[in-house]
Amino acid sequence: MSDRLPGFSTLAVHAGAQPDPTTGARATPIYQTTSFVFNDADHAASLFGLQAFGNIYTRIGNPTNAVLEERVAALEGGTAALAVASGHAAQVVVLQQLLQPGDEFIAARKLYGGSINQFSHAFKSFGWNVVWADSDDIASFERAVTPRTKAIFIESIANPGGSITDIEAISTVARKAGVPLIVDNTLASPYLIRPIDHGADIVVHSLTKFLGGHGNSLGGIIVDAGTFDWSTGGKYPMLSEPRPEYHGIRLQETFGNFAFAIACRVLGLRDLGPALSPFNAFMILTGIETLPLRMQKHCDNAKAVAEFLAGHPAVASVSYAGLASDKYNQLARKYAPKGAGAVFTFSLKGGYDAGVSLVSKLQLFSHLANVGDTRSLVIHPASTTHSQLDDAAKVKSGAGPDVVRLSIGIEDKEDLIADLEQALGA
Ligand SMILES: *Cc1c(COP(=O)(O)O)cnc(C)c1O
Repeated sequence: MSDRLPGFSTLAVHAGAQPDPTTGARATPIYQTTSFVFNDADHAASLFGLQAFGNIYTRIGNPTNAVLEERVAALEGGTAALAVASGHAAQVVVLQQLLQPGDEFIAARKLYGGSINQFSHAFKSFGWNVVWADSDDIASFERAVTPRTKAIFIESIANPGGSITDIEAISTVARKAGVPLIVDNTLASPYLIRPIDHGADIVVHSLTKFLGGHGNSLGGIIVDAGTFDWSTGGKYPMLSEPRPEYHGIRLQETFGNFAFAIACRVLGLRDLGPALSPFNAFMILTGIETLPLRMQKHCDNAKAVAEFLAGHPAVASVSYAGLASDKYNQLARKYAPKGAGAVFTFSLKGGYDAGVSLVSKLQLFSHLANVGDTRSLVIHPASTTHSQLDDAAKVKSGAGPDVVRLSIGIEDKEDLIADLEQALGA
């Protein structure tokens, strides 16, 4: 092989993996074990003291999970990654390294409904205070910064409306405030957008969605860009100060540009415990091998379906950034030139009742609360994922009563359009 760098599709198949050295197995084996034998007492002590890298116990690390971590870090262009049990677990572990009780983080208001819930209620009980900002108004992020701000959290393509976030503009605000930018890249996947190329310091994913891609395994991952200096101003003591759990070592000083990923593992995952099962890591790794093929098909199908809906008399509006007429089309051309994703919303002239009726008449689309499956999915956010919000907040987050959300799968687009046509017309 020459010294050329492998391309994205090659990394999706190979990054982090090699034939198993003991058996020759070509697919990554599922290391279904809780624990790993030490060579001797010194080896055990050096592993526990973070003086050597190696396997101890699957709550802290596992060889199958390690392949997944290396692969996603390579696809996102980060220095290291940590796989966890779900996307929500990734969010908890990330913020636990950054916030002390009483601290604040700024989050875009347009977010996955589960994240709005997690931030508003569960995190509040930890003393982590969310301050909402509006991705369409970059100055609202600037205005939200206070001396207690420790991070900014956005989605690259935002749920449920599929809007595109101006990552570079918000990263400039984060730089100025001296806080890391965390980007949830679940709906884009690194095939469409690599947030680190646009100034993100930390990327999180629900692996449950497009990366796993088959609707069969939960998982989450944290990618460290290696770009943030955690030592400034004593703002991030978990990273800059001596850790009593590890004989007083300082993580940033010891681990440099992958200190954040290490902190998430040895302080977050070790103590909070949301470990990913190696079986799920195997399923998700298998899914990632076809990510570029699937993602392109998802996007091409989504664009065809969005165009069909935009021309249908029962449809009031379609919110899909891939349409030339869409408010976010300029941002889509800049950030996601290969396609604007496959999750979007549209609204029906017949309002709430028409939405409910459509969902009940669709046959090929499954009515359920997920996105990023090979199968096409439909949901009415106002009565489900976003039902906990009051009416004004529903509209603000793109989930008004007349709105239906689709996640377009990889079936034949003609079949998807025919199903929508019968359900809208009948
Ligand atoms: C699903 C999802 C999450 C949460 O992930 P889980 O794996 O379900 O915990 C977070 N963010 C986005 C954008 C999601 O779609």
